[in-house]
Amino acid sequence: MPTDLTPAVRLRNATKRYGSFTALDDVSLDIRRGEVFGLLGPNGAGKTTLISLVAGIARPTAGRIEVLGHDVVREYRLTRRAVGLVPQEINFDPFFTVEETLSFQAGYFGIHLTEERLVELLSALGLLDKRRANTRALSGGMKRRLLIAKALVHRPPVLFLDEPTAGVDVELRRDLWVYVRKLSGQGTTIVLTTHYLEEAEELADRIGVIKNGRLLVVEDKQALLARYGKRTVRLRLQEPMPEVPQRLLAAGAELHDEGRSLVLSAGAGQSLVAPLRAVASEGLLVDDVQTREPRLESVIIELLRDHDSAHSAPAIDDVPSHPVPIVSADPVDPTLGARTLYRKEVKRFLRVPGQTVLSPLITTALYFLVFGYSLGGRLREVDGVSYSRFLVPGLVMLSLINNSFLNTSSSLFIMKLQGTVVDLLVTPLSYLEILGGFVGAGCTRALLVGVLTWGTAALFVGPALPHPFLALAAAFLVSACFAACGLIVALWADKFEQVNFLPTFVITPLTFLGGVFYSATMLSPRFQALLHLNPIYYLIEAMRFALIGRSHVPPATGFGLMALLAVAMLGVALELLRRGYKLRT
Ligand code: ATP
Repeated sequence: MPTDLTPAVRLRNATKRYGSFTALDDVSLDIRRGEVFGLLGPNGAGKTTLISLVAGIARPTAGRIEVLGHDVVREYRLTRRAVGLVPQEINFDPFFTVEETLSFQAGYFGIHLTEERLVELLSALGLLDKRRANTRALSGGMKRRLLIAKALVHRPPVLFLDEPTAGVDVELRRDLWVYVRKLSGQGTTIVLTTHYLEEAEELADRIGVIKNGRLLVVEDKQALLARYGKRTVRLRLQEPMPEVPQRLLAAGAELHDEGRSLVLSAGAGQSLVAPLRAVASEGLLVDDVQTREPRLESVIIELLRDHDSAHSAPAIDDVPSHPVPIVSADPVDPTLGARTLYRKEVKRFLRVPGQTVLSPLITTALYFLVFGYSLGGRLREVDGVSYSRFLVPGLVMLSLINNSFLNTSSSLFIMKLQGTVVDLLVTPLSYLEILGGFVGAGCTRALLVGVLTWGTAALFVGPALPHPFLALAAAFLVSACFAACGLIVALWADKFEQVNFLPTFVITPLTFLGGVFYSATMLSPRFQALLHLNPIYYLIEAMRFALIGRSHVPPATGFGLMALLAVAMLGVALELLRRGYKLRT
């Protein structure tokens, strides 16, 4: 099939609405392979929205979008391999170094980042000496460069640069221009948005102008300059003039600087020869001459002034688009994406061991000292075991529930808040892989803290463990259930208070009231009836059977409920991820 005419990016009637507001309105556009396309327009015009639709961060309300002939919704795993995105906002996970950041990003694409590729990327962007620096320790310009390295790590043939030089000094901006030209020379298609029109003038082959979500103009840069731009000649006069002579007025001359300068201008297809002759024949004496070629800035200002939203969209030349094979230049390991997310999440909680591991252990030890020894002295035995030993399963369950929930809820919510979730959304990771990575790490933290809690408890009550495999199974099911629950809450929440609502007002009270510290036999019949309505009671009883061989409920009931809750939570979390709920706007 002939694929040479297939555009790098094709939008057909692409529309994006946020409620009743239309951010992108029926846009049809082809971005040719290998070109540098400047997408320009005022703040809020819809440039980032357009890019987000192509990169997979947002979903179109209507219309079709293709990358190299592949549909970005149906064939997302393919198209995301072909796209690199340098987002407008600087966002990095503050737990990691430059090197780790790039290695994780490559991993999400299934690519092992080799030392050679790492050095090549860091050298090209002047970051080699910062490879082991934490991303927090980089200057603004270095962070921008790291964003570019991150977007290029999987060698995408199509690169979106969303205001890549905002807030960058002049020297660095020029260095980046050189780098963009180099990438373009190597065949990368580049889509650039910028408010520095000098930058677009310098780099772009074609220009698209967008306003109020509508595409006003798509044209070759030179043709645009020639058509709309004006060449001007500014003559500094020896003697100021009170007014423009009649002959020059007809040629459109203007007086500036209180009559000291005469400005002649010519639009497309016009010549400046006649007005200059008129100046000579008027006998005007000139001190200095300045000439000015048409500038993109004045062209864009004029275009935005003249075109209103009712302007009809530019015509598109509907060349056939056949899918171009998208093949990664590096070997792809199909399981690396999910493994990388898992590894990153585990590393993240291990970076703050005091908070994630040590603090629960101190709490457990305190429980034993306070409850086990003070109350234990009076209670002696509960359900045929010492009170201290009776406490162990409930405390282990408390650790499992809290840690699994907290790990996924806080991690994903912070990623949403900081914008680093974009790093995941632009990758070919499937919903199942994202779920697996987060839940796997949540379970790992919960199991680690659970085992350490049990170990701390064993120092007080001894290491007897009647059903170790059942204990592990219970720990795994409960952790998976609450890690998925944490993910659901992080997806739903817009504020930190909302993330804390469920653990503070529901999970912790239910766990404390679910028999961590007392046996059902110690309660009045009315409270016993209430206890049987609390699902966490059955989970704790199942763990009690596994860890101390005592339970008032058949263990199968507790395990059945655990499995049911885990499947339900994982199912809901997966469905929300599949829909992109509050994630892909
Ligand atoms: P800038 O040059 O300021 O970056 P832009 O052209 O990139 O602007 P967009 O970010 O695409 O503009 O925004 C287009 C419009 O869509 C704006 O009015 C913006 O407020 C709105 N918008 C963007 N994202 C959302 C969202 N998630 N929910 C609601 N409105 C949104």
